[in-house]
Amino acid sequence: MVSRKVDLRSDTVTKPTESMRAAMAMAEVDDDVLGYDPTALELEEEMAKIMGKEEGLFVPSGTMGNLISVLVHCETRGSEVIVGDNSHIHILENGGIATIGGVHPRTVKNKDDGTMDIDLIEAAIRNPKGQLFFPTTRLICLENTHANSGGKCLSVEYIDEVGELAKKYDLKLHIDGARIFNASIALGVPVDRLVQAADSILVCLSKGLGAPVGSIIVGSKDFIAKVVI
Ligand SMILES: *Cc1c(COP(=O)(O)O)cnc(C)c1O
Repeated sequence: MVSRKVDLRSDTVTKPTESMRAAMAMAEVDDDVLGYDPTALELEEEMAKIMGKEEGLFVPSGTMGNLISVLVHCETRGSEVIVGDNSHIHILENGGIATIGGVHPRTVKNKDDGTMDIDLIEAAIRNPKGQLFFPTTRLICLENTHANSGGKCLSVEYIDEVGELAKKYDLKLHIDGARIFNASIALGVPVDRLVQAADSILVCLSKGLGAPVGSIIVGSKDFIAKVVI
């Protein structure tokens, strides 16, 4: 009888396969800070292409990727970001957007399916006329799949609708897509279509993909240029 152990503690415990280890050992490397590392560049370009965005950037962790994405979109002081009250960014990232970035989080209730009611998001957007007292809303964050809702997938229709709302108020849309490929496969929607409405997306290489650490953020050329600086 064949017995095989399946480790279900977390999808972060996946390990590199033999061929991945061999590819890492054989990889051509150079200075990534100076922009010459061909392997890092290939990984970033490939991910951007898959996501239908202009450029990508490898970062050591998903938490860092979400943090710098939020900070770039909220570069002006007194900025506010709309996040789900049960989102990874709000619950599990040490409050970094506030403590490190000085960005004020405005929470909207996450429903059991990981979405936030569109009307409640709209109601949470600050009226610019109150800017003497109010922070300025700059960004909406979604999470797909939604971890604290048991990995529920946000539909492309819902994301498009939030994207329309963001456009209407001149806001950016960031997707914490740590497991966006899971959502793409479960929904049967190509990943570039699923994230079409987003200005930036974070994807983790450390979740179920065999890499021990690492994430990539993708977005426009302009966005990635600001992230690097
Ligand atoms: C794991 C995870 C992150 C953060 O990734 P780290 O690499 O652990 O910092 C962000 N968002 C979601 C939804 C996650 O599951």
